[in-house]
Amino acid sequence: MIKIKIIVCIKQVPGTTEIKINPETNTLIREGIETVINAFDTYAIEEGVRLKERLLSNPETKEEVEVIAITMGPHQSESILREAISLGVDRAVLLSDRAFAGADTWATALTLQNAIKKFDDWRLVILGKQTLDGDTGQVGPELAQMFNIPFVGYASNILEINRTRMIVKRLMDDRYETFEIKLPAAISVGKEINIPRVPSLRGKLKAKNEQIPVWNKGELGLEDEKIGLSGSYTQVVKIFIPKTIHEVKMITGGPDEQAEELYGKLKELSIL
Ligand SMILES: Cc1cc2nc3c(=O)[nH]c(=O)nc-3n(C[C@H](O)[C@H](O)[C@H](O)COP(=O)(O)OP(=O)(O)OC[C@H]3O[C@@H](n4cnc5c(N)ncnc54)[C@H](O)[C@@H]3O)c2cc1C
Repeated sequence: MIKIKIIVCIKQVPGTTEIKINPETNTLIREGIETVINAFDTYAIEEGVRLKERLLSNPETKEEVEVIAITMGPHQSESILREAISLGVDRAVLLSDRAFAGADTWATALTLQNAIKKFDDWRLVILGKQTLDGDTGQVGPELAQMFNIPFVGYASNILEINRTRMIVKRLMDDRYETFEIKLPAAISVGKEINIPRVPSLRGKLKAKNEQIPVWNKGELGLEDEKIGLSGSYTQVVKIFIPKTIHEVKMITGGPDEQAEELYGKLKELSIL
């Protein structure tokens, strides 16, 4: 009997918009910062669980459907996988290895791809449309490219799905587009697609007791030059927050003098 597997990719990100950068190493300062599931990934989890419920209620696909969450990250990322289980995901896998550190989006996608390959019968990968820290939105399209499967970004509604195909509507800046695509495929989602549920008590208990396997580079059959910093085509050379200077200058004198000084100042600042 064929199982339909839906893979949901989630990432742990800082739960604050006040991200601090270490100016020496150009990396995020993560110490003391609360971490959460990337906001768009919560919609990916919800959509995976809803699709499972939908497929199970369809006589054609009702045998077995499984939703699996995966994340690549440090050991602390396990907490977001437990949260995903509390929200209805069936099981989760953590991809963690010192050698994965410093991965750019390509090396991240390649690591995710090698993990997904280990599941037979996966039919759909759901990702968030972007993360709130890296913010590139590249991982989904890169993953689809690596698998040579269709990719629909910004999916806002899954109109139909069965084992072999799906009809997806997506939201663009000025229009909706509808695609019929063959499965396996990958989609990315944002907040338009659903309203995520809150964890159930049963889900919380399952999450607490679940064994979450950790796969390292050996288990994924990945060599050092393909992963982490060595497998990255890009590297952040410098990240900085531009300094903004707020200066108030009072203009004094009569109306003509004030107008003249203001004109001079605006010209000096290239505003005129
Ligand atoms: C040029 C460049 C250089 C970088 N260099 C470094 C570096 O030196 N050190 C460093 O620590 N980081 C670095 N990063 C950040 C790191 O590459 C990203 O955090 C990671 O590759 C994911 O990219 P993103 O956050 O932009 O994801 P996006 O492409 O915006 O994410 C889209 C979706 O992909 C999925 N996804 C993304 N990441 C993961 C993941 N890890 N596990 C599971 N699902 C995931 C999620 O569903 C997410 O919503 C770099 C990023 C860039 C662009």
